[in-house]
Amino acid sequence: MLLNDLKFLIQRSPSYLIFWVAQTCNFTCDHCFNYLENQKKRKELTLEEVDRFSRNLDHLKYVTFAGGEPLIRRDLSGILEVFYLNNGLQIANVVTNGWFTDRTVDFAERVLKKCPGLHLSINISIDGFRERHDHIRQKRGSFDRCISTIKALKDLQNQCDTALNLSVSSSGVYTSENAQEIFELGCFMIDTQNIPYYLNLIRGEDIQNNELKFVDLSHYQEVYQELLGRNQKVLSADYPFRRVKLAVNSVLSEIIMESAQNNRMTVPCKAGEKGFVIKADGQLLLCEILDIELGNIRDHDYDPLQVLSSDFAKKEMARIVEERCHCTWECFQSMNIVFSPQLYPRVVSKVVGSVFDKDKSTIVGQPDPNKGFWRPNSLIRKE
Ligand code: SF4
Ligand code: SF4
Repeated sequence: MLLNDLKFLIQRSPSYLIFWVAQTCNFTCDHCFNYLENQKKRKELTLEEVDRFSRNLDHLKYVTFAGGEPLIRRDLSGILEVFYLNNGLQIANVVTNGWFTDRTVDFAERVLKKCPGLHLSINISIDGFRERHDHIRQKRGSFDRCISTIKALKDLQNQCDTALNLSVSSSGVYTSENAQEIFELGCFMIDTQNIPYYLNLIRGEDIQNNELKFVDLSHYQEVYQELLGRNQKVLSADYPFRRVKLAVNSVLSEIIMESAQNNRMTVPCKAGEKGFVIKADGQLLLCEILDIELGNIRDHDYDPLQVLSSDFAKKEMARIVEERCHCTWECFQSMNIVFSPQLYPRVVSKVVGSVFDKDKSTIVGQPDPNKGFWRPNSLIRKE
């Protein structure tokens, strides 16, 4: 069992995929890094095409389904099933705006039934209390819909035999607009909704309002670490390797600070080697930050590994390492921690350290407007 859980660590080919499964969205959020991408017309990969490309991949440990809004796709449960059957997918992470309550529950029910060995994680994005969230998300009623969706998923957890395989969480994007209330919001989600609340630092070139990037990084880290400590009370006891996950998240915030504040790389990035991104139309990206398109799987026999082994892809992967590329994008920086044994002592020290002191909590202050840090648009390639 343990061997099966950890085999991805010795696998040569990528075991982590981010799939922008739908490239349309019913929202137009202020901070969306995919705002322009979501406006483009494109022909999405069909379920059959997903089946075809997944057969060319090896084992997948973790797939994030994002977009756009993934639940716009009615065949989302079928897509997860494809990865479960073809690649032995172990953790599926669905990031949603929480609008489609009934559809989300129906989707979760189907997945739990069809994929009994899969851990399904549904993460609902919430950026503020009602008024601020609806403003940031430019969608009236969206805060209430998020809360309804969380409640419906919690009810499903209580009714369902396979509920152990479902975890529900929430997350928000830390920006200059919500910095003052995001800690209180995180506590509200943890204390009243009984689900973890995670923080993402604003990023992206194509957001509608660049002023949102003017943030007090020290405050961001203080909020991040405090919420992480509190999350352990509500993170599902059945979440795979939950203590390791929390420890990785803690190291992650240090890496993000190293990149954002000190403009330094902590570990070489494994983009392309251990994980990659596929857009809804089959275009393969090295990561979500660099706009480097490696080729469309439709033009390469639906074989992502063929695209990743091209001379161009290899050259770009080498450049990432040579130029000490670094960024604050949480997903691939977490991946870098998992695949960097030199960081394991830091992770282990967190596992046994204060992150897990349940009684410890500190008062978090307000952001200092004079410490505002203008985050560069995305790439900080050379130190
Ligand atoms: S819900 Fe997500 S994908 Fe849709 S606009 Fe907002 S941030 Fe972008
Ligand atoms: S921008 Fe970030 S995710 Fe992309 S290659 Fe550089 S460090 Fe890795």
